[in-house]
Amino acid sequence: MESFHSLEHNTEGGDCLVTESSAVAPSQSNIPQMTKEVPVSSEERSGVEQDQLTDLTTYVEGVVLGVTPDRWYWTLDGSGEFSVASARKVFDDNRFSEVSTQTRWIKAVPIKVNIHAWKVRMDCLPTRLNISRRGIDIPSILCPVCGSVTESSSHLFFDCLVAKYNFRKICRWWEVDFMEVHTFDEWVSWIVNLRIPIKHKRLLEGVCFGCCGWLYNTRGLMLR
Ligand SMILES: [Zn+2]
Repeated sequence: MESFHSLEHNTEGGDCLVTESSAVAPSQSNIPQMTKEVPVSSEERSGVEQDQLTDLTTYVEGVVLGVTPDRWYWTLDGSGEFSVASARKVFDDNRFSEVSTQTRWIKAVPIKVNIHAWKVRMDCLPTRLNISRRGIDIPSILCPVCGSVTESSSHLFFDCLVAKYNFRKICRWWEVDFMEVHTFDEWVSWIVNLRIPIKHKRLLEGVCFGCCGWLYNTRGLMLR
């Protein structure tokens, strides 16, 4: 038989009464119930109840309620106002802690191109290797472009022969020295250290972002 408590207010004494009674099934409702009343006052609190009261008192101590209406407050920025930049900074600080450079955003190219480059960097595109890592059974994990090496992000965008061919052509077009790069961060390091004006670097970076997008679209067409 399950027992439960109900809390009643005693208006005469100012204290509370805890009533412990025995729950009964509907068919047994005619059986007399045993009830006992246990007085509880603020002076008699102890144990967990006292700890909770202490915690609550500490928590609200010093809180002053203002007269202005409630409003949303963006706690990730000192101004209290939401901004995309502050949200992105939080993502950068928490997700990019293991990489050496910050999110790269090129205004000269469309948003979708920047987002795609970000996905390349984070290795979150559904390459065959990434699909296989998620436990999905696929016929092959080889690169659909060259067919000789496992299709990882680094291979598809930097090591695959088509990627290298395009990269060489871009370097020739921009009259900069070609360098073998195998990861996004290596590529960023290469572009940062180029001896060309910063404005040109950003444009070249945007061109390379676009090339990554073209590579991925081409790869998608080959899978159809
Ligand atoms: Zn390949």
